[in-house]
Amino acid sequence: MAGSAPAYAGVVIDLDGVCYRGDAAIDGSRAAVTALRDAGIGVMFATNNATRTPEQSADKLAHLGFDVAPDDIMTSAVAAAALLEPGDRCMVIGMHGLRAAVTDRGCELADDPAQTDVVLTGLDRDLTYDKLVRGTRALLAGARFVASNADRSFPDADGISPGAGVIMVALETATGRAAQVAGKPEPTLFETAASRLPDGRLLMIGDRVETDIAGAAALGWDTGLVLTGITGADQARDADPAPTYVADDLAALVRDLLDSHA
Ligand SMILES: [Mg+2]
Repeated sequence: MAGSAPAYAGVVIDLDGVCYRGDAAIDGSRAAVTALRDAGIGVMFATNNATRTPEQSADKLAHLGFDVAPDDIMTSAVAAAALLEPGDRCMVIGMHGLRAAVTDRGCELADDPAQTDVVLTGLDRDLTYDKLVRGTRALLAGARFVASNADRSFPDADGISPGAGVIMVALETATGRAAQVAGKPEPTLFETAASRLPDGRLLMIGDRVETDIAGAAALGWDTGLVLTGITGADQARDADPAPTYVADDLAALVRDLLDSHA
């Protein structure tokens, strides 16, 4: 990175493909987070994964050696819940992380389509046809439609698995309604993460151009693309929008960023 990078008030860091891959920390990522904090830069972690609570994600990171509190982590579940009003009766088609975000927001869990204000979809490994029936009927009866994220697929331990977007699209297909999406690349997840950072210039660091980079760039943030996840060096050269920075990994990106101020 030539010359001087702007001073950032805060950095939002994607988890999968940046801090860890599967159940292994990516080399140097823990030390990079510490170096950012030591330089007085606020750090938030952001993930589209709505199946885990922030506490569960913090536990995973702590297990990998990161020094992190649940409030340092913004999930698409918590971001989606921020789109609800306390007291809303919410039908959740999703897992524990999404239900916990809804009840933490002061909403009620609903399963009767006639008594539902909002249908909220996420990844649901226990999806049944009956859940799709009830979601469809609640939406046709006028409930709001919110989705944690629209990811089509994600890398699982043993291959590619269908993502939360598959369930969202099933209900869109059945009803002709469109969901409001909280997760990357839509603005809500970025904005709720930013609300916990100091005011000032922000940088998003991620491994996926179409979500991490495109979503943050649309908000006017600077962006850093790392090559430890989904995007390879060849794709990085053609990335649209072009990231502000491209680095082999989080450690290299942070080193360059901080060196340019040394
Ligand atoms: Mg990622």
